[in-house]
Amino acid sequence: MSNKNIMLTPGPTPLPPQVLEAMSRPLIHHRTEEFGGMFAGVIEDMKWVYRTKGEVLMMTCSGTGAMESAVANLLSPGDKTLVCTTGAFGDRFVAIHKAFGLQPVVLPFDWGRAVDPEVLRRALRANSGLKAVFFQHTDTSTGIVNRLETLAKIVREESGALVVVDSVSGLACERLETDAWGLDAVVTGSQKGLMNAPGLGFVALSERAWKAAQTATLPRYNFDYRIMKKSLADRETPWTPAISVVAGQAAALKLLRAEGMEAVWKRHDELAAYARKLLSAKLGLPFYAKDPANILTGIVLPEGVDGNKLLANILKEEGISIAGGQLHLKGKICRVAHMAYISKSDVEAGVEALAARLAKAKV
Ligand SMILES: *Cc1c(COP(=O)(O)O)cnc(C)c1O
Repeated sequence: MSNKNIMLTPGPTPLPPQVLEAMSRPLIHHRTEEFGGMFAGVIEDMKWVYRTKGEVLMMTCSGTGAMESAVANLLSPGDKTLVCTTGAFGDRFVAIHKAFGLQPVVLPFDWGRAVDPEVLRRALRANSGLKAVFFQHTDTSTGIVNRLETLAKIVREESGALVVVDSVSGLACERLETDAWGLDAVVTGSQKGLMNAPGLGFVALSERAWKAAQTATLPRYNFDYRIMKKSLADRETPWTPAISVVAGQAAALKLLRAEGMEAVWKRHDELAAYARKLLSAKLGLPFYAKDPANILTGIVLPEGVDGNKLLANILKEEGISIAGGQLHLKGKICRVAHMAYISKSDVEAGVEALAARLAKAKV
């Protein structure tokens, strides 16, 4: 059947032609002036996206690698931490802690809900001596957004803990002000709001986080921020980076620069509103998230509809990729993304495909 190849997934997201072109250029060596210039440009542009004057480091890995790097670089054995979980990605921070022998205090919130500021405040009062508090900016498994400005302020008021944020799916989609909000470490990946192929991780570090990274004692090597920072002074990465993906990132960042961050956030506000209006009109099914983000809309499928089969058939027959639910939500919800390079017409095609099948109860 037709293959439109439309990605309505919350990562990876579709790529602009300029990014595809940049990635298809002949490979250059990474210990060259040419690569150095491109890499330094990416770091500068990433500081602009992060809204920080602090340190930004780049690594070759998926978003999970960047999450792991924050744990490994900021913490020491026995450190007390608090992990706020709002879905599958908060659980991943917990799993990473455990892999490093740490036992975090876990503050779970119902799926579909954001972190409740007053519940956070009580947890901070009940747990003294915390080294760091972990949040998702947006939790992609449920489609919620956390109000980081408020949450970070509460952490500052109640403790001396570092504020560590997973903004893998939030950065360059939802407003984020690293410096102004007092975020200490913000990790991200290349394949979501940054409109690039998978393969790069980034972290923005405050002065406090950088200090912590210098003295922390958990084991680390590939992800050692100290080694990365040393190479950065020579406009190099310590190890061979995903060179073509760096070229793609430079091209994508150029597009973001041309648009401007305020305009990027506004575009996401508008596309999210448009997608929800369309979904309500054409599907009339309940939305999953109570504190919805602009990146995606989770839709609760009717009882008896096999979500896995529905989405697999839409992909096979119409070439439209829509994400299903994760973990206990598998088959029960679908997640229509409206972020990064996804367009209005992509969203329309996806909603149309869902509506046509659900109306006929033809899955
Ligand atoms: C995608 C994502 C990650 C990381 O996923 P990878 O598959 O490792 O790139 C982490 N956190 C959130 C919120 C994400 O959406």
